[in-house]
Amino acid sequence: DYHTEYEWSDALRGKMKAVFGIDNFRLCQHGVCNANMDRRDIICVMPTGGGKSLTYQLPALFVSGCTLVISPLISLMNDQILHLREAGVEAVMFTSSTSKEEAREIDNRLVAMAHGRSGSDADIKLCYVTPEKIAKNKAFMPLLEKLYKARKLERFVIDEAHCVSEAGHDYRPDYQKLNVLRKVFPKVPILALSATCPPKVMQDLMDVLQMKQPLHHGDRAGVDGTVYFTAPLYRKNLHYSVLPKPMSHKEMMNAMADYIMKHHADHSGIIYCLSKKDAETVSEDLSERRIKTGVYHADIGDSQKETLHQRWRQGLVKVVCATIAFGLGIDKGDVRFVLHHTIPKSVQGLYQESGRAGRDGHDADCVLYYRPQDFTRLSQLTVQEKGSRAKIHDILRFAQTLTECRNILFAKYFSSSSQISMSSWSTEEKGALEPCGHCDNCTRGSDGFVRRDVRLPAWQILRVAEVAQQTGKRFTINQLASVARGRSSGTSSAASKGKGKEKAGMDLDEIAGGAVELSNDDVEALCVDMLINGYLKEEYHSQSYGINVYVVAGAKAVRLSRFSREDIE
Ligand code: ADP
Ligand code: ZN
Repeated sequence: DYHTEYEWSDALRGKMKAVFGIDNFRLCQHGVCNANMDRRDIICVMPTGGGKSLTYQLPALFVSGCTLVISPLISLMNDQILHLREAGVEAVMFTSSTSKEEAREIDNRLVAMAHGRSGSDADIKLCYVTPEKIAKNKAFMPLLEKLYKARKLERFVIDEAHCVSEAGHDYRPDYQKLNVLRKVFPKVPILALSATCPPKVMQDLMDVLQMKQPLHHGDRAGVDGTVYFTAPLYRKNLHYSVLPKPMSHKEMMNAMADYIMKHHADHSGIIYCLSKKDAETVSEDLSERRIKTGVYHADIGDSQKETLHQRWRQGLVKVVCATIAFGLGIDKGDVRFVLHHTIPKSVQGLYQESGRAGRDGHDADCVLYYRPQDFTRLSQLTVQEKGSRAKIHDILRFAQTLTECRNILFAKYFSSSSQISMSSWSTEEKGALEPCGHCDNCTRGSDGFVRRDVRLPAWQILRVAEVAQQTGKRFTINQLASVARGRSSGTSSAASKGKGKEKAGMDLDEIAGGAVELSNDDVEALCVDMLINGYLKEEYHSQSYGINVYVVAGAKAVRLSRFSREDIE
């Protein structure tokens, strides 16, 4: 078990204090350092700000060769190098922005190391490179081979390792090329680091990097598999909540502006939007409300992006309105709030994006604005993505619940999707399964919502969906809700011009015993609930302007619709 004391543990602590000024290990740092000293392949999943860097920087000080760190983030690399040099550790970086002279000097030093010529003081302990360097720079591999032959290549560290997988949402093609590492340097152990790593991504990562078969950190003796570490996902400084999203755009902007002014008037924050256009609109509309905003998405030019980063760091821009393209490069610790203008495509996305708040450990707010209609938009956007249905249903479940602790929801989501069973978590990790006590659902209290028996309205909604299906009408979820409430659905395909109960071309009295008597919000929420529980299902129809998603009676619906209205009453 790597979570115990080893012969080198005292020395580790000593150097940790002397070089980095750190007194105690956090989370699974000690375990990862142990496995690292033991030259194992390691996967380490720790939340952002958890202290992943220490897990390779500290062991690197105990070996004579060089640890090669592959990271996609030049700005973060810069910070690390400065930090390390201040601490007196020989560290260099080798990127597209390295000058020819610098590159030659680093080159010479590495060659000298390979020939055993440099005094050990001058030896490079940590060399940071971008994946492009491995994938595209022809001169670099021979240099590594020299080091390897001289046994001066100690370890590969792959930062942001989820970038290898197309299933993750930060996919980088150059990461695929990292498969040469194991091929060319079979004896060099690999440490893969990430803040989120669902099973599909983990599998891709193991395949691409050709890591050894995984073992949990409990197994050690004589077996040489990859050791897997996971720290609790729970970050106690993040306060999660889901707020109802107002119907109109204008009301929504007012609500957001009010929220920011009230809670974070002078703080830095991020607003994640579903599309580039949304990001621009939200930025404009908030700046009209006297909030200093900036925009970031894939179509913004590189120099503009750089300017934005600078202005944001200097505090000239307070709130960045962005798509998920704004992520990897953020090296700002004091992000005090992350708002989601629209539900993201997955719980993983929500966790990762909102996790950019509070990296400095101080309190931060993570707010998701949710209204059921956004489901339709999200569905249309992701129709063609494999596995997107299940992910959307998970995020809807997250958004709709009023009772379960947000942090427990995250913990369950990530543990059910992980190959590690709960029982093998350490007690500290299990702590994440206690209600956090400070998210919206923990603080809501039982008078924060009303419980209702919805069997009758559910049956009525289902009857409408069923009859619509039989008569060839198509409804989106909000259209279904308004028709079931006796309102016109507002579409030419479904709405007739008739009056009263026949507005939607359906006699509600006849098919459903009348209209559903709940508010629009409630009926929509109920429809979403029925969808994620299999009573309604989605159907796709391509139209000239894209793919539309409609809902029809689903798998379990037939069973429910066999009840008559009287049975339910
Ligand atoms: P990550 O890469 O996991 O996002 P970092 O390695 O950048 O996190 O560490 C985040 C911050 O936490 C850094 O400022 C680092 O110095 C600090 N840190 C790391 N480990 C510890 C520890 N054991 N005790 C106190 N601070 C730590
Ligand atoms: Zn909670």
